[in-house]
Amino acid sequence: MRTLDQLAHTLAQLDGRGYPSYKQVSGPWGDADLMLALDHVQGDPFATPSRLRVRLSPAIHELPRELYATATRRMALCDFLLRRFAGAVSGATDRHGSGKSGEIWVDAGDAEILLRSGCAFVGDDLELRLRVGLPAQGRRILGRRAARLLTDELPAAARRVAWSHVDQAAAQRFVELAEDHAYVQSLLPERGLVAFVRDGALLPRASGVSSRPLRNAVPFESPPSLRVTLPTLHHGDVTGMGLPVGVTLITGGGFHGKTTLLEAICHGIDPHVPGDGREWVVTSPDAVELRSEDGRSVVGVDLRPFIADLPGDHGTERFSTPDASGSTSLAASIMEALELGATALLLDEDGCATNLLIRDARMQALVARETITPLIDRVRQLHGQAGVSTVLVVGGSGDYLEVADTVILMQDYRPLEVTARAREVAAAHPTGRAVLPPRGEIVPTPRHPRLRSFDPRRGQRTKVRARGLRELQLGEQTIDLGALEQLCDDSQARGIGALLSWLHAHGRAGASLRALVDQALEAAQEHGLYAIDPLPELAGVRRHELAAAINRLRSLELE
Ligand code: ADP
Ligand code: MG
Repeated sequence: MRTLDQLAHTLAQLDGRGYPSYKQVSGPWGDADLMLALDHVQGDPFATPSRLRVRLSPAIHELPRELYATATRRMALCDFLLRRFAGAVSGATDRHGSGKSGEIWVDAGDAEILLRSGCAFVGDDLELRLRVGLPAQGRRILGRRAARLLTDELPAAARRVAWSHVDQAAAQRFVELAEDHAYVQSLLPERGLVAFVRDGALLPRASGVSSRPLRNAVPFESPPSLRVTLPTLHHGDVTGMGLPVGVTLITGGGFHGKTTLLEAICHGIDPHVPGDGREWVVTSPDAVELRSEDGRSVVGVDLRPFIADLPGDHGTERFSTPDASGSTSLAASIMEALELGATALLLDEDGCATNLLIRDARMQALVARETITPLIDRVRQLHGQAGVSTVLVVGGSGDYLEVADTVILMQDYRPLEVTARAREVAAAHPTGRAVLPPRGEIVPTPRHPRLRSFDPRRGQRTKVRARGLRELQLGEQTIDLGALEQLCDDSQARGIGALLSWLHAHGRAGASLRALVDQALEAAQEHGLYAIDPLPELAGVRRHELAAAINRLRSLELE
């Protein structure tokens, strides 16, 4: 391998030459202890910045093996190191010159601890992946600047993640928190819980666009009747609210914290960083938040458990539409979630079509030709037959009191357990609704996507690009991810794009949607996201989000 000194020398010689000469420095440089690889060298200073890897041997990084001995530990440690690396390179960024000259991008996380492609162990070596805008003035190479950046500043920044340089206690906290999050998740089924919210948790965020905790928030305090104590591996026993399986209603007046609680539960699928306030909100990994999406595409979903048939002789056994309504989109999303193995549905009336949630006695009397069976007539069956819990925020309709196992009343941001009182109210004020009996079991029909649905090409070129968390361009089309509330990081949208392109090339033809999604995620878990697509800015997702993106593909074709 050519040494870093040779790289410095080569770059100095390139000083003043035309930008394309940078291609000469492609490939690996350094030695067995510290390797710098320029995997992709950009063609001009305005193009997408170059892709680099820095690899550190155990002699350099000195990270204790036990901190990366399991998948969860590796994820948490790498997430931690990536944040430190991002901090260390920010000093090296120097934007002199044209285009993206001298800029360094390290894709570190925010509130959540996620699997990311930017940092991984390769055997016992630690690899950091990043992008660098190779410096230029006009289109002339700034060779000396590049030499300083690549052979001096960047290796120095990489060495800052070494065990002797990082805050070791902080690293340990990341790992232990993520591990306990996974551990508590693993306890939920045997405890009969959908989620756990520890006493003292700070749920609200500083604003609608911030991931930071709201200052002076009222700390969460479990109602005594729902309080559980769970063991952890590193934090002793923890006490808080256990949200039981079954049908749970979160109710209360407007602005009392209902949505805030549900959102925290939605995001409890991932571990959070220390100090986030939601570190100890732990949710079943298969809890899925759903909402109505007027206009979404639906392909071949069996809606019959919720919608018998539609005007104009539309059957609903294999329902497809490029433009779903509020109710059909929600019914489709529920059936899709069940198809992917959801164990709990999380719904907020704020975002759900009312006619799929409820129909009261008067509407039952007035509207004879209604083909919708609202969720209120299915939630008990969902739990009884399919073992799927529902957590529903409802402030506006008391009819649900009838079907809830647990009723939580939010009052001044404090949860009260009012199930018994809700039963009394329900008995004293009969709704007069006719309860629709179950019509067969609620069994989703597995669908089998054609792999060509995931074609990432646009003309001759591959085009996969995410715009924030809302939109993902895949080849000729744009997937609307806006309703996937449980995505939390832009890099997850890119991760989805990479996984879909991977499936286009490697998916098992004829496999079910669920099998395909699991195939891609197993490959990512086993070989790393970087093996799916060598981009330094990808983050992991659950099967539910990957499938949800597929379900929204307008090009989706089924076998
Ligand atoms: P709801 O859904 O019941 O109408 P929200 O959950 O939207 O209410 O909360 C209303 C407001 O109260 C939000 O601005 C939120 O940030 C704030 N809030 C929620 N929980 C707390 C809390 N524990 N402490 C302080 N403010 C809170
Ligand atoms: Mg609300």
